[in-house]
Amino acid sequence: MGIAKILIVDDRPENLLTLESLLDEPDIELVRATSGVEALGLTLDHDFALVLLDVQMPGMDGYEVAELMRGNKKTKHIPIIFITAAFRAEAQVFKGYESGAVDYLFKPLDEKVFQSKVGVFIELFRHKDALRKKTRELDQKLVELEELQQQLEETNEQLRLLSTTDGLTGLYNKREFDTFFDMEWRRGLRGRAPISLLLLDIDFFKAYNDTHGHAAGDDCLKMVAFAISDAARRHTDKVARVGGEEFAVLLPETEPEGARHVAERLRRAVSDLNVPHGASPTAACVTISIGIATMTPDLQHVQRDLFETADAGLYQAKETGRNSWCVRTSVPIVA
Ligand code: GH3
Ligand code: MG
Ligand code: MG
Repeated sequence: MGIAKILIVDDRPENLLTLESLLDEPDIELVRATSGVEALGLTLDHDFALVLLDVQMPGMDGYEVAELMRGNKKTKHIPIIFITAAFRAEAQVFKGYESGAVDYLFKPLDEKVFQSKVGVFIELFRHKDALRKKTRELDQKLVELEELQQQLEETNEQLRLLSTTDGLTGLYNKREFDTFFDMEWRRGLRGRAPISLLLLDIDFFKAYNDTHGHAAGDDCLKMVAFAISDAARRHTDKVARVGGEEFAVLLPETEPEGARHVAERLRRAVSDLNVPHGASPTAACVTISIGIATMTPDLQHVQRDLFETADAGLYQAKETGRNSWCVRTSVPIVA
């Protein structure tokens, strides 16, 4: 438990000595003032548990000191006990309370009564101090809690990104693509709107890796990913890496003509990268082949039908020379 400070105010040094002898306790620190002005100054510099205030003093008397203390934000809650040798007049007691006193004692002081009253105020002060400390601790905890909450949100966001995107290219991963595909399929089913799917595969990528090295292969994948995500422009278009060097572009509410248009834009975006391919039998730079399929979802088909149709288109694009796209329409486009 900390030391409680008490301010004792009296114009007579012998009275101060009496108070000191009555309050000679190791957990009490006494601060002396011999005038009202000095007392006021000290209340601004210290955090007092209690002020023992002589009423009759030359110059500023105890009542004035109390009134001024009540008018100041820092000192208004410090308890005061008036100590007076004056005759016990009711009116005087009342005056003391009016100016904010919390108690009133008469000289000569009864040792036991005096000490027990002071003890109560010290106890109150300690309670208040402990509460203040707890409030500060709680405030600090609140700040820490807010920081933790922020960190948690950041971690959750990182986890979400990790679980939905591909680490190398930053595109959506196969799992997230499947989620989008499901969602768009059901939307197409409700709205009778066609969905187009493009499956893309880098031409002779194994040979690229063998010739330029695996690290260069990774860089090439990143460049191709960037080019195709840049070329699929509608915000509803979804671009994903669905295999090693295979990508899928989902185009909701897109007719075959629009899908062909996007496919050509993607094909060109990749060849325009002009990434030299030292081992391709068909081109001097990295190219892609694309399979296109369009379908209006119905209850007789599932997503896999659209996927396999686009895959058949991709196979055909590879067969017919690569760096090209091929449309497959073995499933109904219009329901
Ligand atoms: P095709 O034109 O018929 O598609 O020929 P291809 O060589 O591209 O086809 P294949 O499927 O035989 O080879 C794909 C290669 O892609 C195999 C592997 O070396 C490479 N690959 C797959 N994933 C990665 C990857 O994450 N990084 C790198 N650097 N290479 C990859
Ligand atoms: Mg492949
Ligand atoms: Mg390939």
